[in-house]
Amino acid sequence: MKDCARAWVLSNKQFRMRENVMENDTLKNLEMNPPLDDFTNELLARLAKPLGAGFTPGEAEKAEIRDLYERANNQNLTAPIIALFGRLLEFHENSKGTPADFGITPLELEHLAVKHQLIDEHMVSVGGRLTRALPIAGKANSRVEEYLAAKDQEAPSGIEKWPQIEENIARIKSVLKMTDADWNSFQGQIRNAVDSVATLAKLIDLPEKVLESIARVTKSYRMRLTPYYTSLIMPGAINDPIMLQSVPTGEMIDNAGIEIPPVAADHSPARLIDQFYPRVLTIKATNMCAMYCTHCLRLAHIGRKDEMYSREAYTEALDYIRANDRIRDVLITGGDAFVLPNSILKWLLEQLDGIDHVKMKRLGTRIPVTAPMRVDAELLDILEASNDLKPIRVVTQINTAQEITPVSRDAFRQLSKRTFTVLNQAVLLKGINDSRVKMWKLCETVHESYVRPYYLFNCSYRNPQFAHFRVPLAVGQDLVESMYGNISGDAIPRYIATAGGKIPLHRSNVVGSDGTDWILKKPWSGEEVGYPDADREVYERELFAFKK
Ligand SMILES: *Cc1c(COP(=O)(O)O)cnc(C)c1O
Ligand code: SF4
Repeated sequence: MKDCARAWVLSNKQFRMRENVMENDTLKNLEMNPPLDDFTNELLARLAKPLGAGFTPGEAEKAEIRDLYERANNQNLTAPIIALFGRLLEFHENSKGTPADFGITPLELEHLAVKHQLIDEHMVSVGGRLTRALPIAGKANSRVEEYLAAKDQEAPSGIEKWPQIEENIARIKSVLKMTDADWNSFQGQIRNAVDSVATLAKLIDLPEKVLESIARVTKSYRMRLTPYYTSLIMPGAINDPIMLQSVPTGEMIDNAGIEIPPVAADHSPARLIDQFYPRVLTIKATNMCAMYCTHCLRLAHIGRKDEMYSREAYTEALDYIRANDRIRDVLITGGDAFVLPNSILKWLLEQLDGIDHVKMKRLGTRIPVTAPMRVDAELLDILEASNDLKPIRVVTQINTAQEITPVSRDAFRQLSKRTFTVLNQAVLLKGINDSRVKMWKLCETVHESYVRPYYLFNCSYRNPQFAHFRVPLAVGQDLVESMYGNISGDAIPRYIATAGGKIPLHRSNVVGSDGTDWILKKPWSGEEVGYPDADREVYERELFAFKK
């Protein structure tokens, strides 16, 4: 009986025995059970405390408690017991009666407390759950209330906006005279790309002054939006996050000043190669993108016209990798890696797979959000074949939930099935994702679309053209920290500055020491907790007892 009483998990037979114990309403039986914990003893003592003389609950209240008591007693469930204790506690706290006033004896309550502990697989007590866990959960819930109330208005995703986007698609297709086949092919999207103010003006209703400003800027900066990406712009929205990312604005010229030379100049040990690290490097395999971002770090590299690179250029880059056996991870980027024709992409991947010391590959591309129709069966087959040899990660850039539509989500779903993983490198951009609601919604929507948030870049200081997009470091730190404990851990990006390599910007959570313990700060509440470190002496002792 003793063993059985201590069993954490009760077998059916044992459980039936417990039920019998509960029916044999004796203190002796109660004593055989595991003792109630302090939380429950406190709760029972609190409820038993008299409230002063002469209080009688009303008939309705009595009936309610009687009903709750019957349920708690008759069902082998935890919830009715919690409900009864919860209501009794409420009545008691509002000076409206003790259990005795409702005709419930202390022994009966204790009995129910024991029953709760026996039913619960993890031996959670009624006092623990009611006075500790539920208030703690309630406090935690309050941290996300504001977000849940605001997220779909303040930061709608392209999935939520899909009906409007479908209307936009119909309008754009008809103005550009695109067939379904045009729309659904990458070539059709590129052939019909929006690269002049005149075309843009036909597709989106913009005030004359704005059009003049865009015309002025596009003399100096390249504009290209796929018709698909254009369809994500919400009509009438001021500072639409899609438009801000793709249509150059007057600030770019007004800001332009002394250019800081691109860091790549210091880090290109071979043709097409950028290398910051001993074991990872990038091949900038094209200067083309399906859409040109207004915040592009590679503004200088992207240049003014599309270029196809020669076989010799690729061969020189590959030769550098072949000759350098420290290199283990190679990123094919650009521009945008998915702009490369399948034949070149396949060849590059085969070349890399043929180099023994290259163990992993990455492909940098925004095309799943700017022209998702590029992700077709042939491309997926090429990726899967190479991924079967050595892992491929697809690294994308999504900066707002509005960029994720049912179409791009489907592209990511397919990519995630056929490659190792899909990662997102977002850029922190003023007005686009610099609020809690926008950033949380971005990370959650990305995550729900088979993509893991990986990096959040602070917008670079090197290109004065987009100084107007920059967000202070402290704001970025607050944003990233606000995600801990409130959204899934694998949806939280690392906050990074690019300055001749990627430098983490996270604030340390180890805020000090009280002489004995470290003091750690919880990112979600600021609460500080003591944390005893490993015992140095134990750590330095000989390793384990398993030695032969
Ligand atoms: C971003 C980048 C890498 C990869 O960095 P990780 O921290 O491994 O993601 C490597 N080389 C260059 C030149 C890069 O810009
Ligand atoms: S997709 Fe990347 S490389 Fe191309 S314009 Fe945008 S930020 Fe620049």
